[in-house]
Amino acid sequence: AQNGSVRKRGPNILVTGTPGTGKTTTSSALAEATQLRHIIIGDLVKEKNLHDGWDDELDCYIINEDLVCDELEDLMEEGGNIVDYHGCDFFPERWFDRVVVLQTDNTVLYDRLSRRGYTGSKLSNNIECEIFQVLLQEAKESYPEDIVVALKSDTIEDISRNVASLTDWVGSWHPAS
Ligand code: ADP
Ligand code: MN
Repeated sequence: AQNGSVRKRGPNILVTGTPGTGKTTTSSALAEATQLRHIIIGDLVKEKNLHDGWDDELDCYIINEDLVCDELEDLMEEGGNIVDYHGCDFFPERWFDRVVVLQTDNTVLYDRLSRRGYTGSKLSNNIECEIFQVLLQEAKESYPEDIVVALKSDTIEDISRNVASLTDWVGSWHPAS
């Protein structure tokens, strides 16, 4: 209770997973249901220039992890955030109360990413990332096992179920001492 730290206004949830698994769709719906703040790291990096230029080979910004963490520190201390990013190993472990790893059947994911315009190695690298469960491994290596949950995200029904169960979890969350 009275340990000198300010109580968080809500839990911090990291929603991670291979691109296309439904992080932004799921996080948006969860933010709407819970009034938590949805932070899309990719957008923040672009808006606030938290990068070291463009990577032509990977076709994305070279994210500056230190700048991103500095930018978010105050908000994370305040609590009540949903962080949406396809990576999880560079955030401070203490930030998160829950780490959600979305997973999609790889043929379903292939179609989603093709529709998004991914081709060639960008497409195959992401499919491989999903097949080898790279984000789940990364999450398990970076956070306590009991806060990491893997959720299937193949269908719209999966999204509804995931949002409902996470909303319940947020509702029953209480700040630790
Ligand atoms: P991410 O943020 O992980 O890259 P998005 O939320 O942008 O993924 O979803 C990518 C595309 O796939 C969107 O068109 C979205 O509507 C669709 N999608 C994502 N998750 C699901 C799902 N569980 N069922 C059906 N379509 C989905
Ligand atoms: Mn997204």
